[in-house]
Amino acid sequence: MSRLFPFHGGLKTVRHKTESNRQPIQPGPLPRRLTVPLRQHIGAIAKALVQVGDSVLKGQMIGQADGYISAAVHAPTSGVVVAVDTRPVPHPSGLPDLCVVIDSDGENRWIERQPVVYRALHPSELRNILRNAGIVGLGGAAFPSAVKLNLSGQDQHLETLILNGAECEPWITCDDRLMRERAAGIIAGLHVMVHLLEPREVLIGIEDDKPEAIAAMSEMCAGTGYAVRSVPTRYPSGSVKQLVKLLTGKETPVEGLPIDVGVQCFNVATAYTIHRAIDHGEPVISRVVTVTGHVSRPGNLDALLGTPFAELIEQCGGYREKVERLIMGGPMMGFALHSDEVPLTKAANCILAASAEELTPTRPVAPCIRCGACVEVCPANLLPQQLYWHARAKEFDKAQDYHLFSCIECGCCSAVCPSHIPLVQYYRYAKNEIWAQEKEKQKAELARQRHQARLERLEREKQEREAKLRQKSPARTAKAEDSGAGGKLDIQTAVAQAKPQPLSLIPSHEGTGESEGEKTDQSLGKQDV
Ligand code: SF4
Ligand code: SF4
Repeated sequence: MSRLFPFHGGLKTVRHKTESNRQPIQPGPLPRRLTVPLRQHIGAIAKALVQVGDSVLKGQMIGQADGYISAAVHAPTSGVVVAVDTRPVPHPSGLPDLCVVIDSDGENRWIERQPVVYRALHPSELRNILRNAGIVGLGGAAFPSAVKLNLSGQDQHLETLILNGAECEPWITCDDRLMRERAAGIIAGLHVMVHLLEPREVLIGIEDDKPEAIAAMSEMCAGTGYAVRSVPTRYPSGSVKQLVKLLTGKETPVEGLPIDVGVQCFNVATAYTIHRAIDHGEPVISRVVTVTGHVSRPGNLDALLGTPFAELIEQCGGYREKVERLIMGGPMMGFALHSDEVPLTKAANCILAASAEELTPTRPVAPCIRCGACVEVCPANLLPQQLYWHARAKEFDKAQDYHLFSCIECGCCSAVCPSHIPLVQYYRYAKNEIWAQEKEKQKAELARQRHQARLERLEREKQEREAKLRQKSPARTAKAEDSGAGGKLDIQTAVAQAKPQPLSLIPSHEGTGESEGEKTDQSLGKQDV
């Protein structure tokens, strides 16, 4: 067995996996109405391609990737678009976002699906197909995969491609079931990744509490050169930097990415969607999601994106009594939802209906006693209590000096703190404040640049006007310039002209060189006198 390289910190958690991993993946419901957010990924929101009244087919692109870091969005079933507007979505901010709402016609009519012979394609063409198929990281991060599959511009060669099947959070079992049941599809998707990235080695990391998944994946990897590695069940082994350390011994730089040490990492479910896109011509319109906790029949559903959580919970027998909180993701890194009417998205790997027993009881918060327990469990090698002090004191610069943004919000520190300080909440608060301040700074800088550009435009227009005037009347300009140069003379002339003149009965302008206008004015002046 190959050597593993344990990461610092981490925790043994109560697993709660058997509640949902005993039954095979079930198909999700076909809802009457689906709400499909146009932002289901990190990066720019997809650009809507449909409007109210349009008929759509299952798999039709309804949102186009807008920019390099973006991904396409597709209709999960056939029907009619009844709205394109902002709706509640599952996001920690609780803010609504732009969605395409589709009323299903119940027929599930597909677009024409075209499998792809990917080995014949140029890499950029292949990446474009994946981008247009809406492939993003399904482990929860939802980062567009086409970007991670592009190494052009990187100095180094890819040493290791890691497929992440660790699934370390308690309660979540969707990857476990996917590996057990669809290992062939996962490996087919992995072949596409290998074709694009040409890594020196391929490692598949799976926690050792999933023996069936390890067996299924090992069987499919026979003869491929890919190595399945069983890793100890220790939270958060599925977090990217920790898995990279575990499998390769490499430390990802504090502010860096695994690619900085020659490693790229993808979730097993992402590999499966690549297989569906390439071998079946199907974009990402569904995902396997764990529905668990206080529901009557916990399990895993292969559900259409856009399905309301309430219908998924209904399919799992509905809520049992005393559900305190609905969480998207696991209990450690997930977030609470305000409603079960929000739709399933690509990032949603788990819906946890938590009762009071499942939640960490809220206990009175005491002052930090500097015990150092949080430091011992922090897998990111941070000083959680220092981060806490600075976040609490709103000393955000200092919090950043202590690498606030390297905190993966795993919750290990909060879990062991004897003073019950909700440490992660302080870090999230500090991060949000820093992002808000950055936004304000960017806005102020934009306003300053606009103001500067306006001043420059006004000055340019003024100079252009003056140039035009000079072109139109060179004589006048010359005179104006003369006047400018001989200001003293002009004053003398004006004083002389202002002096009372003797009345002349026979006005004569001969030889004076005055213009017609000046003559008239002078005449009028005499009349006034
Ligand atoms: S575990 Fe809690 S009490 Fe102990 S040092 Fe960290 S923040 Fe302070
Ligand atoms: S939440 Fe952040 S600070 Fe706390 S243990 Fe995890 S990585 Fe460390």
